[in-house]
Amino acid sequence: MGKNKKKYSTTDICYWCGNPSTSKEHVPPRCIFKALPSKNQLITVPSCDLHNHAKSADDEYFAALLAINFQNNIVGKEQVHKMAIPTLLHSSGLASRFKDQSRGPFMIEDPDTGDIQRGFHGFEPELDRLNNVFEHIARAIYYHHYKCPLQGSVEHIFPEFLTNIQAPTEAINLLKDAQKHGENPEAFYYQMAIDNLINTGLGVIRLSFYEGTNAIVVFQMDATE
Ligand SMILES: [Zn+2]
Repeated sequence: MGKNKKKYSTTDICYWCGNPSTSKEHVPPRCIFKALPSKNQLITVPSCDLHNHAKSADDEYFAALLAINFQNNIVGKEQVHKMAIPTLLHSSGLASRFKDQSRGPFMIEDPDTGDIQRGFHGFEPELDRLNNVFEHIARAIYYHHYKCPLQGSVEHIFPEFLTNIQAPTEAINLLKDAQKHGENPEAFYYQMAIDNLINTGLGVIRLSFYEGTNAIVVFQMDATE
C-alpha cells in the first residue's frame, strides 16, 4: 500500500468524466493493432478507474469482428493472422460466436421491416458491445483532439460496416469536408465535426479502422453557459 508507482500530473483528468485520472489507456485499444509494425504513435488518454476500458471483453469482441471483415485493407487483413486466430483458439466464448462467420458480409432482409441490411452469415452482431466500444473510443478521441471531455450524450451510433442504414444526412454533411486525423491512417483515422448549437448542436465523429470498418457516433452536445 502507498506505493505510488503511477506519476501523472495532478491536472490530468479522465477523458470521459473529468474526475482525477488514475491511469492511461490506448485509444483505439491496443488489441486491434497487433499487426502494426510501430506502436509508438498510438494515442493515449488519461482515465479514471471507472472509465478505463483496458482489457475489456467488448474490445476483444470488436477486435475479432474487425479481423474477419473482408472490406478491410491489407493492413487489416494481417490481423487475421496476428490476432484473430490466436484469440479465437483461446477463447471458447468468442470461438462459438464467430464459428463459420469468416465468409464476410452479405445482404440479408429484416423479417419485420423488409429492409435490406448487410450482415454476416448467420451472425447477429452484439450491438450493445459495439456501441460501448465506439462510445469509449469517440469520447477518448474527442478528449485527445480538444483536451477536454465531451459534454453531451450519445444520440445514435451507426456501424456503417454492418448495415446499410445510413446515418442522417445532416450528420454526413457535417463530416463531408472534415479533415482525416491519424498518424497511421491505413490502420485508424478519425474525422470530427462539432456543429454550432445554433444549428443542430450535433457532434459527429467518424472512426475508421483499416479503411473498411467505419462507425459514426452522433452526440447531442450540451449547451455551454
Ligand atoms: Zn472517468
